[in-house]
Amino acid sequence: MLTITDLTAGYGRLTALKGIDLTVAKGEIVFVVGPNGAGKSTLLKTVAGLMTPFSGSIRFHHADIAGMAPEKLSREGLVLVPEGRSIFRTLTVEENLALGGMGRRDRDVLESDLEAVLTTFPILRSRYRGVAGHLSGGEQQQLAIARAILQQPALIMIDEPSLGLAPLVIDQVYESLRALNRENGMTLLIVEQSTARILDLADRVYVLRNGHIVLSGPAAELAGGRQLEEAYFGYEAG
Ligand code: ATP
Repeated sequence: MLTITDLTAGYGRLTALKGIDLTVAKGEIVFVVGPNGAGKSTLLKTVAGLMTPFSGSIRFHHADIAGMAPEKLSREGLVLVPEGRSIFRTLTVEENLALGGMGRRDRDVLESDLEAVLTTFPILRSRYRGVAGHLSGGEQQQLAIARAILQQPALIMIDEPSLGLAPLVIDQVYESLRALNRENGMTLLIVEQSTARILDLADRVYVLRNGHIVLSGPAAELAGGRQLEEAYFGYEAG
């Protein structure tokens, strides 16, 4: 579904991504993990069309999308939930969700999709008419993801869904992501700074450090070993 080849991107003279190769297949949950400043947000911003790459290719459903406008990409089914959630804090939960469905003409299907996200994220149903700014961090994260789902994406990219959340809340958010994947077949590309908990949810993992992919593999193969930790912290092998 998504194939990134030899991608280089950055800011002015700073090259933040250096020859990235990464793929996401339909129905997969893929994580990119790496320390502060590794280039994780830059990667998602470049794929989402918020930055133009220096070089390399990004193919989504076989079309080259590098440099394509974000609005066009979201219409093509590629949606980013940025770091910090970007919900409208002064609007209600209902109004935030309505913005996700804006532009959709299939009102009947939208109604049933809305019902489905309120079932996946019950807290949003109970706070439906409340102001989004009064939700806790975890609830706001769920609202941002729910709103993205109502855009009917083929691929959702989420920048640090666990940021600022208590461990128990992270478990809840991850559990909802697992349900979306298992029950609705949603394809997910998720960036996280912490490697904690990700191996239970991920199909495959990439470790990004200093703009390079230093390790990648199926989560099942990385579980239990020290490989992931060593790549993350940059220890020499052996
Ligand atoms: P974090 O977990 O801290 O968000 P990250 O892995 O997402 O880190 P990026 O935000 O992609 O990392 O940053 C990669 C590199 O690009 C860093 O060296 C960072 O300082 C630099 N950078 C990020 N945003 C900008 C910007 N707007 N202008 C200039 N340099 C930037």
